[in-house]
Amino acid sequence: MSQTGGVEPGKLLIDGRWEDARSGRTFATLNPADESVITQVAEAGLPDVDAAVLAARKALESGPWSKMSAADRGKILWRMGELILERLAHVGLLETLDTGKTLFDSGKIELPMAAQIFQFYAGAASKIAGKTPSSRSDAFLFTLKEPVGVVAAIVPWNFPFLLSSWKVAPALAAGCCVILKPASQTPLTALELGRIGQDAGLPPGVLQILPGAGSGAGMALVRHPAVDKIAFTGSTEVGKTILREAASTLKRVSVELGGKSPNIVFADADQEAAMRGAFNGIFYNKGEVCAAGSRLFVERSIHDRFVAQLAERTEAIVLGDPREKGTRMGPVVSAQQLDVVLGYIASGTEDGARVAAGGRRASDINGGKGYFVRPTVFDGVTPEMRIAREEIFGPVLAVLPFDDVSDVVAKANGTMYGLAAGVWTRDVAKAHKVARAIRAGTVWVNTYNLYDPSLPFGGFKQSGFGRDLGIEAIDGYLETKSVWIDLGR
Ligand code: NDP
Repeated sequence: MSQTGGVEPGKLLIDGRWEDARSGRTFATLNPADESVITQVAEAGLPDVDAAVLAARKALESGPWSKMSAADRGKILWRMGELILERLAHVGLLETLDTGKTLFDSGKIELPMAAQIFQFYAGAASKIAGKTPSSRSDAFLFTLKEPVGVVAAIVPWNFPFLLSSWKVAPALAAGCCVILKPASQTPLTALELGRIGQDAGLPPGVLQILPGAGSGAGMALVRHPAVDKIAFTGSTEVGKTILREAASTLKRVSVELGGKSPNIVFADADQEAAMRGAFNGIFYNKGEVCAAGSRLFVERSIHDRFVAQLAERTEAIVLGDPREKGTRMGPVVSAQQLDVVLGYIASGTEDGARVAAGGRRASDINGGKGYFVRPTVFDGVTPEMRIAREEIFGPVLAVLPFDDVSDVVAKANGTMYGLAAGVWTRDVAKAHKVARAIRAGTVWVNTYNLYDPSLPFGGFKQSGFGRDLGIEAIDGYLETKSVWIDLGR
């Protein structure tokens, strides 16, 4: 097997052409399951960003894209959805190699969802419309919805293809041109999305892909005067930096950031369903999920039994190479993330929480290679511990007991984040009451971690602002222009 494992080196997609970086620089992308180099990828720098922004402006202002009807844009988006499904096996394997997520998660869940998203926005493109207020008899007033312009989409490593689709599809539906910068750890499937866009008929310059460093290409996009909007998903810390930097050119910005989401189990819940929801809420995609139910609140009367059962299931999770059929959980994404997760496990123990399951690196897989960590459940956690307050972004659950609705609502809201929450109960009134009381962008009742293209997703508080998904996402890629036509006095 060659060093690249048969995967072609990655290039930049600029103005319809696949190019090396102007600096000639490349970076390696690694397989987290065995630490091998998958391939080398061109690393975009400032001159590449300049070239891509220029091409995007040209496509936006004078190219075929600027003249295309919304319905024709929709046809291309629909075709992109079809091509994702046709290329599922290939793109899914690349996603698994790059991220360490299982083939099931890549191929059966995330790529089909991405295809659905493109086809949802394919239909939405031709439904964009302004308003005609009828408040005046001496004038005809109307609003036009126009594309915001050149969008830089900057995405993280946990769902590289899916989160790219969350940004690219509505932006293209709105008529924008997009420059997509994937995370350095996981650039491969963003390149495939670029190929899919080309093959579906996007004109040059409409969707460009620039792998590169956040501090390099990412920051250059944020500062570029000819970029109109930054659509960012990532950490709260980098989100704040981007907001500060984007202020100098008053760019539009949407930021989907971190979370520390509460998943609340009442004693009257369907226990088996709640158990599955608690389990998948934290362990899906190795806990590398912005909305992970990483704080599990369990009503005191069922707490000990619930934790014991959850711990037993957690110990039974089969870790291994994510390409193998029997594997239920792959490695975390990188050596850096492994250190972060192990650091939090150490902090939980030092702070006096009890390890009910896991709590260590798994060194018995792939001859000690790969970034495997045993999924971990802590109980005896108190709200001030770091494992209860800070986003870990790994397979580590903090379980806390509660006494009643007002107790759990106060504890659940006691965080700077507000991305998502779960509520498990058979009492409909209680479910409504808690769903309203939780300050978060999404509340799931008797389920967890489900997404639909029609339902907006985003944060309250320091989990960000702006929305992905839903018709609301398209609004984020539009400007409203008001036109006043005088009808004479
Ligand atoms: P980061 O914030 O570190 O990086 C996200 C992206 O931003 C990457 O492409 C990164 O590039 C880039 N970047 C980093 N620094 C800059 C900069 N100064 N200017 C411009 N771009 C920059 O997040 P992670 O990749 O570590 O992802 C994990 C985070 O993402 C978690 O906090 C998680 O909660 C959040 N997230 C939020 C979601 C939501 O919808 N709310 C969904 C999924 C994740 P590079 O990789 O080169 O550093």
